[in-house]
This record gives sequence, structure tokens and C-alpha cells, in this order.
Amino acid sequence: MTIRVTVWGENVHEQTNKIVAGHYPKGMHGCIAEGLNEDAAIMATTATLQEPEHGLPVARLAQTDVLIWWGHAAHGDVSDEVVERVIEQVWAGMGLIVLHSGHFAKVFKRLMGTPCNLSWREAGERERLWVASRNHPIAAGLPDHFEIENEEMYGEPFGIPEPLETVFISWFQGGEVFRSGVTYKRGAGNVFYFRPGHEAYPTYHDANVRKVLKNAVKWAHSAAPRLTGVTEAPNVPVTEALEPLEERGPRLHHDGEEGFR
Ligand code: ZN
Repeated sequence: MTIRVTVWGENVHEQTNKIVAGHYPKGMHGCIAEGLNEDAAIMATTATLQEPEHGLPVARLAQTDVLIWWGHAAHGDVSDEVVERVIEQVWAGMGLIVLHSGHFAKVFKRLMGTPCNLSWREAGERERLWVASRNHPIAAGLPDHFEIENEEMYGEPFGIPEPLETVFISWFQGGEVFRSGVTYKRGAGNVFYFRPGHEAYPTYHDANVRKVLKNAVKWAHSAAPRLTGVTEAPNVPVTEALEPLEERGPRLHHDGEEGFR
């Protein structure tokens, strides 16, 4: 079974900055998709902010097993309607992988419910990622630690809720550390945040980074059919209770009435 991945790219820096365009002539999203497509079990395509509905209409999301999100300069330009649409699909079972500066994406902040803030420095310093959860499927085939020679620093405290699992911890040349690979379950959906991927460096060409993303796609993918009605809140009448039930108190609502939201 092929896992269908949509790599969503903001596609702004690639169009406005020569360094970024030099590393990523086909866009960062294009490079990420290319890396994933090295694996025969994955079929990755791309979508960008500039397309109608940001390239994420309902039908596209319905055909997406795992969505990958890279954004930075234009988080505020992503429409709330599309954000809600993506979140509902995550609740319904779509996998989501949020990359690097996506920590401030509306989609990620809504799913986390916390500020998702961090400290940072752009100095091209060395990042060393340590595998913190041995034998985790996202770390499969990776060494106990690996390095990225030039990266932006992200430092703790990282304003996220306590992760389900911390798969990677990063150390930076300047001395900071960061929870750089963390998992969550939101509704029926698997969510993974992965830190590396500053646009000024060729990080998504790195073999270890590509391996992490391939592993993460397989981990985030759910083989179960997408759920429907995940935001419904049905009012179950007394007569439909599973066991015989006698009504024994006053009530505000009639049978079948919608509740307040
Ligand atoms: Zn960055």
C-alpha cells in the first residue's frame, strides 16, 4: 500500500531570497517531496500557499494520508477556514508532520493549545541530534546521534505540551538544547514535530534528515479509514439508552435537541 503524502510549502523565501532559491530550486516542498519519493512505499506531491485554498481543498485532504507542513514568513496569510479543515482531518485520522518554523503555524498552535515559543539564533552553528527513544520507528536505521553542520539554533524552553514521546533531543554549538523530535496524538491523528530545516541551509538534502521524514510518514500514517462526524456531540434520548433507564430528574433539553457550544 502506497502512503499518499502532501508536502505543503509556504513557498515565500524560495521566491524572494537567492540563497534559499539556490539550495531549493524546486522549492523546499519540492526537495522534501523528492526525498520522500526515494521510498517506493511513499507517493509525495506538493501544495503551496499561493494555490486556490492554499492547495488544500477538501478533496485533496481526503486523498492525503499524511500532511507535511513547512511555513515561516506567512503564517498569518493562511486562512482560518483552511486551518480548521486541516485540524478536523487530523482529528479524523490524517497524519501531520510539522517542520522547523512551523512551530508557530496556526495549525500547530491550535493543535497544541500552548504558545509553542522558543529561543533562537541564526549563526550557522552545528546541531547534534540525539536519539532519545531507542527503537522508536521514527529513529529506525539512524545512528545514536548525527550532526547537521550548519543550522539555526532553537533553544528550550519550548512552549509545547508534554509530548507523548520525545524521539530526538538536539544540542547546539552555542550550548543550548531542544526537544527536536516530539510526537502527539490529537483525536485519531498522529502528529510529529521535527525541528531541523532552516531555509538558509541545505538541510532537506541531508540523508539522515530524509530518513527521519520517511520514517515519520510511515509512523504517522493510519491504515484505518478516515473517521467522519468527529465534532458531533449527539444527545442520546432515555429511550435509546443501552440499558433500561427511568428518567429521574428535571432537564433543560428536549430529546434530540442540539447542545450549546
Ligand atoms: Zn528558521
